[in-house]
Amino acid sequence: MALGEIADRIAAAETSAGRAPGSVNLIAVSKVQPNERVEAVLAEGHRTFGENRVQEAAGKWPAFRETYPNVDLHLIGPLQSNKARQSFELFQAIHSLDRPKLAKSFARLAQELGHCPALFVQVNTGEEPQKAGVLPTDADDFVKDCRSMDLPVAGLMCIPPVEEEASLHFALLAKIAARNGLEGLSMGMSGDFEKAIALGATHVRVGSAIFGARTTG
Ligand SMILES: *Cc1c(COP(=O)(O)O)cnc(C)c1O
Repeated sequence: MALGEIADRIAAAETSAGRAPGSVNLIAVSKVQPNERVEAVLAEGHRTFGENRVQEAAGKWPAFRETYPNVDLHLIGPLQSNKARQSFELFQAIHSLDRPKLAKSFARLAQELGHCPALFVQVNTGEEPQKAGVLPTDADDFVKDCRSMDLPVAGLMCIPPVEEEASLHFALLAKIAARNGLEGLSMGMSGDFEKAIALGATHVRVGSAIFGARTTG
């Protein structure tokens, strides 16, 4: 099991960046992994997990939560507005807030239910047409709009283009967060989480390096 090794590498990256031990949250991305692998990581004591589909999370986490009630579950994939209510029931954090319509749904639900997951605004730092997220030039206004709706914006999230140097995108995301007074930075995956930590990541999303390769998804 690679969980311990990843935790060690995160600790080393925190130290070399001059950051406090424990300042980075490890989100173990369990999407499409066999239940035995997820169970093994739970049994090791890890409690923070990420899923990219509401349907898949709804299918497996209620059962895990009977044994491990204090699981902290993060939605890291795209969200349709009609699944917003269900996502409020399942997730403690949502990393894919990327459009006004979704922000409005969240604001209505927060009013009605009296709680709201921690929210990360997804920024399309590579300005890729096929990718979700607000454009870097629209991020400041969107964060302001979310705050005017009293939404709990914890930070920003990005998924850099695969063929580009991730550090440039992490640095851009950190800059946008800083000028908006946001502390949370959800960035870094299996291949680049140390670079993300060097540039200020507070949440790294690590899947295959913990659980092994995914066969689908
Ligand atoms: C799957 C996924 C990850 C984890 O990717 P790995 O390369 O397996 O670490 C991180 N972030 C998002 C948004 C994902 O969909």
